[in-house]
Amino acid sequence: MADDLLIDLPDDKPVPTVATRRRTRMIHVGAVAMGGDAPVSVQSMTTTLTADINATLQQIAQLTAAGCDIVRVAVPSQDDADALPAIAAKSRIPVVADIHFNPKYVFAAIGAGCAGVRVNPGNIKRFDDKVGEIARAAVDHGTGLRIGINAGSLDKRLMEMYRTDPAGALVQSALNEARLFEDVGFHDFAISVKHHDPVIMIQAYRRLSEACDYPLHLGVTEAGPAFQGTIKSSVAFGALLAEGIGDTIRVSLSADPVEEVKVGVKILESLNLRPRQFEIVSCPSCGRAQVDVCTLAEQVTEALKDMTVPIRVAVMGCVVNGPGEAREADLGVASGNGKGQIIAKGQVIRTVPEDEIVETLVTMAHEMAADFAEQGSPQVIV
Ligand code: SF4
Repeated sequence: MADDLLIDLPDDKPVPTVATRRRTRMIHVGAVAMGGDAPVSVQSMTTTLTADINATLQQIAQLTAAGCDIVRVAVPSQDDADALPAIAAKSRIPVVADIHFNPKYVFAAIGAGCAGVRVNPGNIKRFDDKVGEIARAAVDHGTGLRIGINAGSLDKRLMEMYRTDPAGALVQSALNEARLFEDVGFHDFAISVKHHDPVIMIQAYRRLSEACDYPLHLGVTEAGPAFQGTIKSSVAFGALLAEGIGDTIRVSLSADPVEEVKVGVKILESLNLRPRQFEIVSCPSCGRAQVDVCTLAEQVTEALKDMTVPIRVAVMGCVVNGPGEAREADLGVASGNGKGQIIAKGQVIRTVPEDEIVETLVTMAHEMAADFAEQGSPQVIV
């Protein structure tokens, strides 16, 4: 390169992808470790009537298949509490009972063999008086707890503070309850301080993370339907996880909970906090595109959505960035003039007409997946 093209550049420094995970105390929710150096786990919550054991177990199986690590079930009635032993025994992933208002269901859930219980101190009657008894029952059964503080059901004593400092009030409430458990020698709990506003939620978790070393369960509560909820959760979780804050996540969507799990898994994959699976790299298209990139990308994504090996497929609309991106992927197409150059592991291997691009990519992706299964997964390029 000619010398006059070279300008002084700053020294090359390693760019961290995310901050080092903040070190928290490790607890166990059944077989899933939470906190410490355990991987960040994905949670969701069933939408079935818990008392309908078959329907609940069926939905838990769907969530498990989508990558859910821990599942929560609502327990608003005695019928639901009665269903817990069967659900806890048959679920392949740990079951957490979600308890509001009535403390007797906390004890029922612990006795039923649930791996964890979420308690909401803000609306459980005389919760503070029962902390000692709850802690003893949890120790006896090896049950993990979550102190789940929500803006919508905050302890009445903190409402005045909430009006001027909502994040502070959430944290205050959580730490007050944590101290009650500490006073009886119990520390096996995670904490959440959820708010519907991602900015307040981020502030609350940052402050909580400074103040204690309990594992933190991240959540933007009442985040909305899938589109808005996905964005709010991704922004808030992304900000915190990139600072090393967060040990388990639950995306809350007014949608099928399987979607919550898919979004949660993708958030973790995007930050390299969970091994990446199938990933598509596709350009947004523009006036230079010589094929229908959007349709091609959608068709390839749909055809490979269940692929569990870490294959990266690039679908690019023209030769500007196409060959470069396709070369960095395991498999790709760089399109031009109604045709596609198929590139595998950096080499152009054939050119096919536009209407054969999807089929060719999908077939080759499955062949690569079979090879990966035999030889072990490749190192994921990040
Ligand atoms: S790869 Fe080509 S078609 Fe796609 S956005 Fe870039 S310039 Fe446009």
